[in-house]
Amino acid sequence: MSVIQDVIAMVQEKDAGQPEFHQAVKEVMTTLEPTVAKHPEFVKAKIYERIVIPDRAILFRVPWVDDRGEVQVNRGFRVQFNNAIGPYKGGLRLHPSVNLGIIKFLGFEQVFKNSLTTLPMGGGKGGSDFNPKGKSDAEVMRFCQAFMRELYRHIGPDTDVPAGDIGVGGREIGYLYGYYQKIVNEHTCVLTGKGLEYGGSLIRPEATGYGAVYFAAEMLAVKGQDLKSKVAAVSGSGNVAQYTIEKINQLGGKAITISDSDGTIIDEAGIDSKKLAFAMELKNVRRGRIKEYADAFKGVTYLEGKSVWDVVRDQSLHIDLAFPSATENEISGKHAEALIKNGCKVVSEGANMPSSLDAIKVYQGDGVLYGPAKAANAGGVATSGLEMSQNSMRLTWTSEEVDARLHQIMKSIHRACLEAAQTYGRPGDYLMGANIAGFVKVANAMLAYGIV
Ligand code: NAP
Repeated sequence: MSVIQDVIAMVQEKDAGQPEFHQAVKEVMTTLEPTVAKHPEFVKAKIYERIVIPDRAILFRVPWVDDRGEVQVNRGFRVQFNNAIGPYKGGLRLHPSVNLGIIKFLGFEQVFKNSLTTLPMGGGKGGSDFNPKGKSDAEVMRFCQAFMRELYRHIGPDTDVPAGDIGVGGREIGYLYGYYQKIVNEHTCVLTGKGLEYGGSLIRPEATGYGAVYFAAEMLAVKGQDLKSKVAAVSGSGNVAQYTIEKINQLGGKAITISDSDGTIIDEAGIDSKKLAFAMELKNVRRGRIKEYADAFKGVTYLEGKSVWDVVRDQSLHIDLAFPSATENEISGKHAEALIKNGCKVVSEGANMPSSLDAIKVYQGDGVLYGPAKAANAGGVATSGLEMSQNSMRLTWTSEEVDARLHQIMKSIHRACLEAAQTYGRPGDYLMGANIAGFVKVANAMLAYGIV
């Protein structure tokens, strides 16, 4: 067996019960096969074996009191995966599905993603099985304070800098940062995604969605095309989905779907800026369900219990572009087949690992331009990196400056993917290119450090 297969088998045996982590390791490792022959020094130093084990995983208890005065207990996690090229960096997820395996998959992916951004950031991820849905602001605040009461001792501006993810937006970052600066008595860049009044960066909320669309535009440009008049399916209605739709509109495309975990909206006239403003207020302020969109606008269909990808399949919905922006494994192999049958030529992943391994096989077999998450959604963490830079310099850049840097970073990630794919013998394979380009930089740093 090759070292790659040995590592996959080792992870499956030693990290039992963590299917998402196994999936992420398999997806990355199998594409690293061409690096084995080119880099015997990586094999000798056991880089492949070392890179799949986190530097450390911190598990902690989060007790808090709900509005009825009852004690609640959740599990907290922070996985500091690899800091070879910079402080650990990666979001916090609050969702009932969170467990150690999910946080490890996200932290592992983050290592390669952050390396691709060209900025000096290691990879980490954290979160809790706390469910913010249906909780009052006061309950969310008490949970965030209890979470930070333990997390603060493990993070720092040069050690580990968390950010948002599913269930963690501006409100949660405010509560987390407010408590940190209260107990540590320091204003330092220990979290990104902060409000503008207390150290946040312009364009950080927009960055992941904008970046996923910039990446799709780069892939299209290679084929001499652009987004104008193209029809897009977008899943989710959170931070990433909202700004993906905004940028699709700005570049002349048309987004026709938006969803949440209850169901999917189809709006064939397109989700224009007025309708998007409604969805943003609904989701970010009123914290309502996407179903309400169908009550507010004419000519709209709502399908309860269906994902965007079910709907594309069941309704034979024609689309040119797909932007999965909700959660992991939302697109199965069968969904992928239906996407292609209905005209889809580009998949740009705003969410992390939204395509199953079977779906990826289908894209690659059918020549779909496939922008994998660690490249396509790296704009968010890249702009977090820009927030860290601004905080260190104690100054702020304008929206135009940050957006221009974001755009430039997405172009250079796209270029790095294509160059690595070419160098390692699979021209045009963005998945292999992203994994190898991200990996080689981290592996070289690990090699330079000796055995530590
Ligand atoms: P968010 O603001 O919390 O929104 C998440 C959206 O996805 C919501 O519409 C949610 O629906 C839906 N969703 C969540 N879990 C789902 C499930 N199991 N099934 C169906 N729908 C589900 O989160 P976000 O920040 O947009 O993150 C979305 C994805 O992008 C995640 O994979 C995240 O890891 C990735 N990502 C985010 C960033 C960032 O900067 N925020 C950066 C890189 C990658 P409900 O409202 O019903 O829960």
